[in-house]
Amino acid sequence: MPFLKYLVIFFVLIGVLLGVSTDVQSGRGLNAVSIQQEWRFGDRLAQGISRKVNIVTDPFSVAYINQLGQRIVQQTELRNLPWQFQIIRDNDINAFNIPGGHVYIYTGLVQETDTESELVGVMAHEIAHGVKRHATEALIRQYQLRTLGSILLGRNPPAYERLLAQIVGAGYLAKHSRDDEREADRLGAYYMYQAGFDPNGMVIFFQKILAEENRQPGRLARLFSSHPLTQERIRNVSYEISRFPPKPGLITDEPQFHTFKNNLLGRGATYGRWGIGPGPGRSRY
Ligand SMILES: [Zn+2]
Repeated sequence: MPFLKYLVIFFVLIGVLLGVSTDVQSGRGLNAVSIQQEWRFGDRLAQGISRKVNIVTDPFSVAYINQLGQRIVQQTELRNLPWQFQIIRDNDINAFNIPGGHVYIYTGLVQETDTESELVGVMAHEIAHGVKRHATEALIRQYQLRTLGSILLGRNPPAYERLLAQIVGAGYLAKHSRDDEREADRLGAYYMYQAGFDPNGMVIFFQKILAEENRQPGRLARLFSSHPLTQERIRNVSYEISRFPPKPGLITDEPQFHTFKNNLLGRGATYGRWGIGPGPGRSRY
């Protein structure tokens, strides 16, 4: 029956076309970047970022944040790659990730965390963005893969400097979509739970930050512009967490977190609860 045959061909064609278009939308270029290439790109960006921001080098802080990050990374499929967690001395409440397993946490954000699981919540969220290659996808959308390669392999220094200035100025590499955020929350909470941390730490921190944003709109502009935080997001992740099987002994807090925080921020820090006071980065507001 020819009609049926044409109908089948028609639907197959439609399917192919839809397939191609969703491929393009979801960043088909991403598949063209190997993890090794992505890690090289990320290292190249990280080198540039470290020239432009104030990275904390104190060995205790560096060791603490990296062991904490590793406990989450071990729950992911990219556990064998060399992730790196760095602290930027800046009073902004912010955190971001770039390709290649580089996660940046601002001292201003550490200041706002009251327990270790709150800090882990933010880190797990950033790690989930990294595992799902969200920032890499955004970079490929912004540049074509070939252009990106030439920028990051040193063949276009002015474009490289512009990209670095964009990241450092904005405090993020990519504005994430709602779906990316939901995925990073859900996965991040699950990694926390798997690593033995209480995933509610993530929810508690988000609630605190959202309340602060409602009190003083714009105060958290940088964090909110890259990771739009809404009541709906908090509800979604709380629901996901409620479905995890009960697990005794989940960690909310550990003494070393407070040693780290005191050491990093200085026992006599005069900054207020929300970072009000003198310090690098305040002038950006
Ligand atoms: Zn995010």
